[in-house]
Amino acid sequence: MLALRATRLFDGESATLVQRPLVLIDSGRIVAVDAGAGEPPAGAEVVELGDVTLIPGLVDTHVHLGFDASADPVARMRADDDGALLLRMRLAAQQHLVAGVTTVRDLGDRGYLAVTLRDWFREGHEVGPEVLASGPPLTVTGGHCHFMGGQADDEAELRRGVRTRCTRGVDVIKVMVTGGNMTAGIDPLTPQYTAAEIAAVVEEAHRFGRTVTAHVHGVAGIEAAVDAGVDGLEHCGFWVAEGVRADQELIDRIAGRGITVCPTLGLLPGGPPPPPPVASRIPAMSASVGRLHKAGVRLVGGTDAGIAPAKPHGVAPYVVDHLLMTGLTSVEALRVVTSAGADACGLGGRKGRLVPGADADVVAVAGNPLVDPQALRQPAAVFRAGVRVRTPVLS
Ligand SMILES: [Zn+2]
Repeated sequence: MLALRATRLFDGESATLVQRPLVLIDSGRIVAVDAGAGEPPAGAEVVELGDVTLIPGLVDTHVHLGFDASADPVARMRADDDGALLLRMRLAAQQHLVAGVTTVRDLGDRGYLAVTLRDWFREGHEVGPEVLASGPPLTVTGGHCHFMGGQADDEAELRRGVRTRCTRGVDVIKVMVTGGNMTAGIDPLTPQYTAAEIAAVVEEAHRFGRTVTAHVHGVAGIEAAVDAGVDGLEHCGFWVAEGVRADQELIDRIAGRGITVCPTLGLLPGGPPPPPPVASRIPAMSASVGRLHKAGVRLVGGTDAGIAPAKPHGVAPYVVDHLLMTGLTSVEALRVVTSAGADACGLGGRKGRLVPGADADVVAVAGNPLVDPQALRQPAAVFRAGVRVRTPVLS
């Protein structure tokens, strides 16, 4: 048995921190969280972590392990064969883990390599983050991220696409409802699929017990995805030709249907600016994130890690800074990157919370992250299923 002692603990939900916690861990799971620094059981290995706050390992609900966060990650992915790509994905996963991101959901790979990597870690060959994977996103021929290999052009192909993914063991279905910014010639404002086609994806996925999350930028695509009954919206910037238009009626409909929104926040400060269509809309998009939260929409902390130099793997701590700018409190922001993300991934009982029965994915950060969220950027220690993560040699 392992016993972690620290000064404070954030359990993933409560605004009141546990003082002088003692966290008992057995076989990779938390068995007790005691306040007041009681005595550990005889024979336990005690780790004294000092003036730190224990928090649940962060959950990044939107990453691309196959993108290398270079200036042109698409070219790099296309140049790699599957062997090289898988090695880079393994490195990216370790970059998340050492940054305290113990669960990542890959929302777009090639060749189901994220599923392969998920199983590699799960089988215990190597300590890595918990990986969830969508496989190649569903997209139209020549559509957004078509180079990942997930083309499906009509309802029958979409249904077959969902079934193929479920057979391959994916955790979630990702559908590119609008164009995006990483695929030249594809318009982020225009839907690639009709609401009826997206509804077929949802029906088929739910039949197989999978959730559906939709990549959407333009308002028309958001409307179609919401009408189709998707479970999650990625980006969801409410783009229109002249900028951003987030009607309260649509925000309320997203809230009323219980749809999760991942606004893909989180950027390294001082990096190169995002592409002009994104940069010019950032202030209005930030305001809409605050309005989504006020309307009761569940936000999650996916980052789109890997897509640009300002979004390296392990960037999730910066989501908190970004959420504070949109009007969330620090405890609300910390919930977004821990328990809310775990719930959206269907892992609420095991991840994102430091409670008995949960996996012992624990991060120690200096000081108090509710007062100083920047403390999240340099974890003092990371435990994955009770195993202390040694910093691998990463470049
Ligand atoms: Zn993405």
